[in-house]
Amino acid sequence: MSGKLVIGNWKMNTRSESAQALVAALLADPATNRDGVGVAAPAVYLAQVARQLEGGRIALASQDVSRYDADGAFTGETSAAMLADVGCRYALVGHSERRQYFAESNEALLRKMRNALAAGVTPVLCVGETLEQREGGQYLEVIRQQLAILAEIADGEYVVAYEPVWAIGTGKVASLEQIAEMHAFIKNWCLQNAGSSANIRVLYGGSVKAENAEAILATKNVDGALVGGASLSADSFRVICQAAGKLI
Ligand code: PEP
Repeated sequence: MSGKLVIGNWKMNTRSESAQALVAALLADPATNRDGVGVAAPAVYLAQVARQLEGGRIALASQDVSRYDADGAFTGETSAAMLADVGCRYALVGHSERRQYFAESNEALLRKMRNALAAGVTPVLCVGETLEQREGGQYLEVIRQQLAILAEIADGEYVVAYEPVWAIGTGKVASLEQIAEMHAFIKNWCLQNAGSSANIRVLYGGSVKAENAEAILATKNVDGALVGGASLSADSFRVICQAAGKLI
């Protein structure tokens, strides 16, 4: 588990043609076409992107996974088995936008984590506090509650992404001290509560850009980045991946 991991989260953006152009640019560049780089494409484009990524080194990720594990009458859902079938290596779980707009509970997220693990897809559990929770001083307790599901998972590789809600898509970035404090907290919590899975990677997410990537990625206990807006431009994503590639 060496090297930083950078995953671009395209959210509900791109079309068939623009996704193809973006992937073509990432594949053409050794800074992005390498191990430790991934793209989380919209579900409808996963198969298209998977075909394009064949033969390259960029990993495919989904932005979500169903809580239901068996095929059946779950209209609109995408199962972990389907994600594995099209070649997803990672699945985001519990992104703050999903927690906020789709009221995803810890119970649902635990099911998603288990389904992904059972299908051989590495879940990336996203955790983060709101501005109110940070300013109210409850931020560590909030993250502790969100991490609690990891104690229910017996084994398997997973990733945690710390994404303060107030820093996502807002241009506000957590300070390096805030990032260092939270990443140390998450790693310690996992060491004490998540048994053999304690070797997890903890990514930072929240307005990571070309200009701030190097400093964030060099911060202690930051094992990579989850990048939203800046991953939609091959130029800015390349700079972030380049910064990650220089660091161990
Ligand atoms: C995200 O969507 O996970 C994210 C961190 O977004 P942004 O980089 O745009 O803040």
